[in-house]
Amino acid sequence: MRLRTIARKAACALVGLAALVGAVEFEARPAMAEELAKDLFGAEKLPAATTPQSFGFYSKGCFTGGVAIPFEGDTWTVMRPSRNRRWGHPAMIALLEKFSRDAASDGWPGLLLGDISQPRGGPMLTGHASHQIGLDADIWLTPMPKRELTSAERENKSATLMVDPKTHRVYDKLWTPAHTQLLKRAASYPEIERILVNPGIKKKLCDTVTGDRSWLRKIRPFWGHDYHFHIRIGCQPGSHGCKEQAATSPGDGCDKSLAWWFTEEPWRPNKNPDAPKARDIMTMANLPKECRMVLQAPSPASAEAATYHGDGRAPVAVAASPEPAEAPAATAVGETPPEPVSANAFAPTPAIGIPLPRPRPGG
Ligand SMILES: [Zn+2]
Repeated sequence: MRLRTIARKAACALVGLAALVGAVEFEARPAMAEELAKDLFGAEKLPAATTPQSFGFYSKGCFTGGVAIPFEGDTWTVMRPSRNRRWGHPAMIALLEKFSRDAASDGWPGLLLGDISQPRGGPMLTGHASHQIGLDADIWLTPMPKRELTSAERENKSATLMVDPKTHRVYDKLWTPAHTQLLKRAASYPEIERILVNPGIKKKLCDTVTGDRSWLRKIRPFWGHDYHFHIRIGCQPGSHGCKEQAATSPGDGCDKSLAWWFTEEPWRPNKNPDAPKARDIMTMANLPKECRMVLQAPSPASAEAATYHGDGRAPVAVAASPEPAEAPAATAVGETPPEPVSANAFAPTPAIGIPLPRPRPGG
C-alpha cells in the first residue's frame, strides 16, 4: 500500500517534471537561438558613430558616440591595449585625461589605465559585470613608471597587490600618502559619483584621513579592487535611456557598513560557484532595446578618427545622422572636419557632459 502510494507519487512527479522540462524547453528555445550579447558586443572593433548616449545601467547596457583615449599621453598609459577597452563616453575620456594631469601635478607620475569600456559597451567576454555604458573606468594603484613601457610590458606587467588577502588590511609598507591624495583627487570631480576600492583601502582612509573627510563618502568598499580602483561617473546630459544608480548614503562610510567587511560573512565561499554570471548569459533581449540599434550603427573611419586627444578638438566619430538605423554608410563617417567644442579637457574641472562632439539633436 505504502509502496504503491510512493510509486504513484513518483510517477506523478515524473509526469510533472516532464511537463516542466517541456515548458522550460519551449520557453528557452527562442532565447537560446539568440546570440549572447557579450559575443556581439565583444566583436565590435569600433564605436557607434552617433551622438554620445548611454542606454540602460552600468551592468546592463550599451552606448553610442564612444571615443578612445590615446594609448599614451604624457601623464597616462593604457594597459592591456590588445583588449580594446579604452573606449568611453566623451565626458569620461576627457575626465580621465584631466585627472591624469591633475594627479601628475599632485606628484603621482601618471595613471596606468585599466579597462574602460568596449567600443559600443555591452557585456564583455571576460571580467567586469559593469563597464557597459561608457561611464566606468579602472585605474591601477601602481604609478606610471618614469620610462616608457614597452608593448610587452603594457600587455603583461603586473599591478601591485595593495591588500593582504588574509587580513583584508592594506600592506602598510606599500600604502603612501600619494595613494590617498590620488583617491582624494578622483573624489574631487563632481562627475565622479563613486570610487570602488577594496574594504582594506577604505579602512586605511577612514583611519588616516584628517581634516576634510567629506570626500570619503564617494569611496565605496567592494570585493576585489586591491590592484586598482574603479571610478564611475553619472549619467550624462542627452542620455535619456541611462539609468541612474542610487545615491550614496550620507556620511563618510567609516561606520558599521565598513565594519561588516571585517567580519567573516562577506568572505564565505560562494555556495554556488558554478552558477553562470549574468554577463555570460545575457542575450540582446535582456538589454535595452536600443542596444540592437547600437550594434547596427555605422562606425567611424578608424579608431584614430574616434580618438580624443584633449586638444579642444572633438574626435570625428559622429555620423551625419543622429539616428543609428538611418545613418549613412560607414565610409562617409570620418570625413567631417574636426569641430571645435565649447569646452575641453584642459579647462578647469569640467561641468558634466562635456566635451560633446556635437550638440545633441533637438537641443
Ligand atoms: Zn572596474
